[in-house]
Amino acid sequence: MILYWFRKNLRIEDNPSLNKAVQSAQEQGKRLVLFFSSHLLFKNAGPFRRVFLENAIKELSTELNAVGLDLISTPDSPDLWIKAHAHGASIYTETLPGTWEDTELQRVIEVIGNDQVHRTWNRTLYPIELIPGGVEELPRVFTDFYRGVVLKSKWPIPAPLNTPWKIDRGGLAQDRLKNYLWVTRAISSYKDTRNGLLNDLDSSRLSPFLSLGRLSARQVYSEVKNFESLHGANPSTEAFIYELVWRDYFQFYLLKHGFKVFRSQGILENQKLCKQTNFASQPDGFIKWIEGKTAQRFINAHMNELRKTGWMSNRGRQVVASYLVNDLQLDWRLGANYFEETLIDYDVASNWGNWNYIAGVGADPRKNRYFDPISQANRYDPDGRYQDRWA
Ligand SMILES: Cc1cc2nc3c(=O)[nH]c(=O)nc-3n(C[C@H](O)[C@H](O)[C@H](O)COP(=O)(O)OP(=O)(O)OC[C@H]3O[C@@H](n4cnc5c(N)ncnc54)[C@H](O)[C@@H]3O)c2cc1C
Repeated sequence: MILYWFRKNLRIEDNPSLNKAVQSAQEQGKRLVLFFSSHLLFKNAGPFRRVFLENAIKELSTELNAVGLDLISTPDSPDLWIKAHAHGASIYTETLPGTWEDTELQRVIEVIGNDQVHRTWNRTLYPIELIPGGVEELPRVFTDFYRGVVLKSKWPIPAPLNTPWKIDRGGLAQDRLKNYLWVTRAISSYKDTRNGLLNDLDSSRLSPFLSLGRLSARQVYSEVKNFESLHGANPSTEAFIYELVWRDYFQFYLLKHGFKVFRSQGILENQKLCKQTNFASQPDGFIKWIEGKTAQRFINAHMNELRKTGWMSNRGRQVVASYLVNDLQLDWRLGANYFEETLIDYDVASNWGNWNYIAGVGADPRKNRYFDPISQANRYDPDGRYQDRWA
C-alpha cells in the first residue's frame, strides 16, 4: 500500500508529495490510500477555527471523491492509525516546521521506519536551497534575508505543479482568490488599502487558505503574475508579493529555531537581553484584553472583532500585541496562545514568529517596537468608525 498523509497541504493541486505518492502507486501497481488525522490540526482550535477547518476538510474530501478517491479521516494520532491500518506501507507526506509537528512525524517514523517515510518541503514560495548553507544560515533579520538572499539569488519561483487528475476548481479559497484579483481587482490598490480596517477587500484575506494549504504560496504568486501580465505590475502587486516573502521568512525561521521560538526569551540566547523577564501578575489585565474591556477603545474594537469573528487585520494584530507586551506588561505567550486558539488563519510559524518580533525576542533589529494605541487610532481610524462598529 502507498499511503498519502495530508498534514497541512489540504489540496490536490500543487502538491508535490501527493504527485509522488500517485506516481509511486502507479509504478508499483499498489493501492493508493489517502488519510488525514485531525489530532494535531484541531489541537487548541476554538470554535471559529474549528468550523473553518471542518469546511476545508469537507471541500478536500469532495474534490477527491470527484476524481474517484476517498479521504480517510481519523481523530487518532497518525502513528496510532498507521500502526493499526497501514503497517508496512510506504508513506508520502510533507515536512512542516514546529515542535509538535516534529514530534508527530518522529512518532510515525518510529512506527514505520525512516526509509518508508518520504517527505517533501512545500510550504514556501522559495525552496530551502535558496539559503546558501541551508536553513541554519537564515539571516537573523528579515531585511538581510530579503536583500542578501532573495534579491541576490535571482532564484526563479517554481511554477505550481499540475495535478495527475483533471479537476474542476472550486471552493472558498479559489473563490476568494478569483474575487480579490480578477472580479474586484482589489489587489491593484493593496499598497494603499492594506492598513484599512473596515472593508473586507482592504487586504487579500487569503491567509486562512494559505495557512491550511488550501492554496499554496506558489499558486497565489502565479495568479498574481498572470494578473500583472494582463493589467501590469504596480507597487501594490509588488507589495503583496513582498508579504508572501515575509511569510516564507517566518516558515524558515521556525524551521531553524524550533523550540526556542516558544520560550519567553524567544531566540535570544542571553535571557538578560529579554526586556520581558518580570511579567506583571495581573490576570485580570489579560481577561480584560481578551474581552475588549481595556482602557483603550481601539484595542477593545480589535479584540471584539477577533472574539466575535476569528479575524483581525495585520494592523490590529500588531497594535494589540504591543499593548499586551508593553502596556499590560504580560507574558507575550499568553497573547500568542490566545491567537492560536482564536484566529481562523492560525499558522504556527507566522503566529509565533510575529509575536517573537513584537515582543522583541525574535527577528526584529529594533528592540523597543511600540505601537501607541492612541496615535494608531488617530492614524488608522480617524473618524472612529471602526471603533464604533466593534464597540
Ligand atoms: C501578532 C501577530 C500574529 C500573527 N499571526 C498570524 C497567523 O497565525 N497566521 C497568519 O497567516 N498570519 C499571521 N500574522 C501575519 C499577518 O497579520 C496575517 O498574515 C495577515 O494579516 C493576513 O491577512 P491577509 O491575508 O489579508 O494578508 P495580506 O496583507 O493580503 O498579505 C498576503 C499574505 O502574505 C502573508 N503575510 C502578510 N503579512 C505577514 C506577516 N506579517 N507574517 C507572515 N505572513 C504574512 C499572509 O500569508 C497573507 O495572506 C500575524 C501577525 C501578527 C502581528
